[in-house]
Amino acid sequence: MSDCIFCKIVNRQLPAEIIYEDNNAVVFKDIIPKAPVHFLIVPKKHIDSINALLPEDKGLMGELFLVAQKIAREKEISGYKLVINVGREGGQLVEHLHIHLLSGKITELP
Ligand code: AMP
Ligand code: ZN
Repeated sequence: MSDCIFCKIVNRQLPAEIIYEDNNAVVFKDIIPKAPVHFLIVPKKHIDSINALLPEDKGLMGELFLVAQKIAREKEISGYKLVINVGREGGQLVEHLHIHLLSGKITELP
């Protein structure tokens, strides 16, 4: 998706503070953090939202949650929230599926 900002971050066409990358995912800091820890776990594959998931994405979704666990372990974050907004009315502003990882006092829901 050429006009998708998260695809551009994945392809290094836009800057971001990337803290983790593997074959299928990148993790970077949210540009407007809503908590002391606020990362975005993003699949490299462009998927609009949870509503656009296909059966073939089942393994990928599992991987994304394991990435969340790995980041939390490595950064010694013992408690955290994982948030997925779905659709405009669900608070989703960027139409490329992502999981928010938040920890510490949350100022507002992403
Ligand atoms: P959502 O509302 O669930 O779609 O979340 C989108 C998130 O992406 C928001 O928390 C934004 O602050 C964040 N965001 C938007 N643009 C960027 C960017 N260029 N780099 C990092 N985070 C971004
Ligand atoms: Zn995208």
